[in-house]
Parts: sequence; structure tokens; C-alpha cells
Amino acid sequence: ADPSAWAAAIESDTRAFFLESVSNPLCTVADLPAIAAIAHEHNIPVVVDNTLATPLNVRPLELGADIVVHSATKGLAGHGSVLGGVVVDSGKFDFSDAARWPQIAAPRVRLNNTSLLERHGPAAYAMLVRSKFLHDLGPTLAPASAQGILAGIETLPVRAAHVQRSVTRLIDALAEYPGIAAIHHPALPEHPSHELARALAPKGTGCVLAIELAHPSLVSPVIDGLKLISLAANVGDTRTMVSHPATMTHCRLSAQQLADAGLNTSTLRLSVGLEDPADLLADITQSLDLAVAATQATAGTKEESFA
Ligand SMILES: *Cc1c(COP(=O)(O)O)cnc(C)c1O
Repeated sequence: ADPSAWAAAIESDTRAFFLESVSNPLCTVADLPAIAAIAHEHNIPVVVDNTLATPLNVRPLELGADIVVHSATKGLAGHGSVLGGVVVDSGKFDFSDAARWPQIAAPRVRLNNTSLLERHGPAAYAMLVRSKFLHDLGPTLAPASAQGILAGIETLPVRAAHVQRSVTRLIDALAEYPGIAAIHHPALPEHPSHELARALAPKGTGCVLAIELAHPSLVSPVIDGLKLISLAANVGDTRTMVSHPATMTHCRLSAQQLADAGLNTSTLRLSVGLEDPADLLADITQSLDLAVAATQATAGTKEESFA
């Protein structure tokens, strides 16, 4: 979030900045123009994971990124049914320093003592990805998966617009709801990325929002009580999913690292899908109501109740 922290972290062997345009799960929006300016001052390329935002909401190449990656498994394919990824190279980064970028700028015996840069110019990095990481190492996309991703991209605008309306509806209805301590989403004025999101992602930040429950003891009953929303680590599916970062995606972080990431054991991540938002709201509130009532019934004193 803090461009000056990026500047302070640069070392002599720093070869790339790698960041999410919209982070998971708190939806922190990166100040890409500022971070890219710092990187480019030091001849460092900026690689942006734009999975959560999707290209409809954030266009990193226009904001200073050099390379963009997507998990196409998520919003691009959109139906939780294929695995794939996308690497987009702007072709603009100057990789000509052979000491820094030998794979791209140094002559190679295999290429008759020419470099990828001499042979392919601005497409040199893309050719490295194709020849080494696809051809030689072999993680080739299955044809049916490619078809699934292309079909998904065709409906992305319609899905993204529906999801954004539902996200807004859920935030409005749940922000003050009993059993919820906080909602983390840039649409809310108290979110640290509120202003930046308006400037860099005016249409929205995608399907993810984070809900911090009032107490960790609510996590299991709330998740178990959901009838429509399923427990899964995926995002960007047609179906709405809940996950518990502290024991799932972020389970390898220490308590301090979790806290540094703005998370705690009460944080839930929601990936909003295409269901009717009224049904989603009904599911979440019935589960919360039951969980809060059960916890209050077992609480010894009124002070222990947290609704
Ligand atoms: C899921 C995800 C990935 C990894 O993608 P896979 O398709 O699961 O390999 C990378 N970045 C983000 C932000 C993701 O959500």
C-alpha cells in the first residue's frame, strides 16, 4: 500500500516488483502509478497480479505496469471449472542490460550466439515465457480449458456488473449488522484505499469483500449455518463462496504476519457470485442470527455478549 516502503525495499539484486492490483482479501488497492515510477527509476519491471480486479476494473498496463498476470481460473473463466493462467507483456520494459537480464539480453549458443532481445525486440520477454516456460517446462493449457476461458471472457462484463451491484447491496445491508465487527471494502469511506479505488478502479474492485466477525467463536457456526454459500478457496466463480483466510489461504502466516496483513482469526472472505443478492443476504443473515443467538445463550454475563 505504501510506495515509500517499495523504495526502501530495493536492493542491488532486486529484479522485479510483484504486487496485486487489488489485494486478497482486504481489497487494498495498489498505488500503481507511484509504485511503477519508483521501480522504473531503478530499472526494475513491475509485475502485477490483476486476478481479483479483472481487466474490466483495473488496467495495469495503462497505470505503469510492465507485465500483468492473471489466474484465468477465477473471474476470466468464471465458472470454477478450468485451471489456467495468462501472462501479458507490455513489451515496453528495457531488458537490454545483459548483466541484469542474461536470459533475455545475453547471447545464447542455442540461438547461434544471438540474444532473445536481438531476435525478438520488444517481444523478447514474451518469447522467453513461450520458449522456456511453456515449451521447455511444459505447463501447456489444455484446449478445452482455453475454450472455457475464452467463453468466460465473453460474459465477463455482464457477470462483473451483476457482481458489483450485489457487492454494494451486501455491504449496505451488512455494515452495521449484529455479529459483524467490520466490513473491509474500498467502497466504504473508512477503508484505507477508498480514494485510490475511486481513481484507479472507478467501476469497482471485483467480487471479493472481507467480513470481520465480532468474535472468533462465531466463525464455525456462521460458516456451518450457510445453506446457499459454500465453503471453498476459489474466487470469481458464478457461485458465492466463503473462506476463512486464517486457516485456509493464509494458514502459513504467523499471528504477527496475519496482523500485519490486516487479518485476524475472525476474518471471512466472501467471493460474490451470480445468485440473487436477496438470497445471499437472507443466507448470511439467517446464519449470523442463529450463531449470535446461540453464543448469547451460552454467554455467562451480558458483558460477554458481543452482538
Ligand atoms: C488463485 C489465485 C492465483 C493462483 O492461480 P491458480 O489458477 O489457482 O494457479 C494467483 N493469484 C491470485 C490473486 C489468485 O486468486
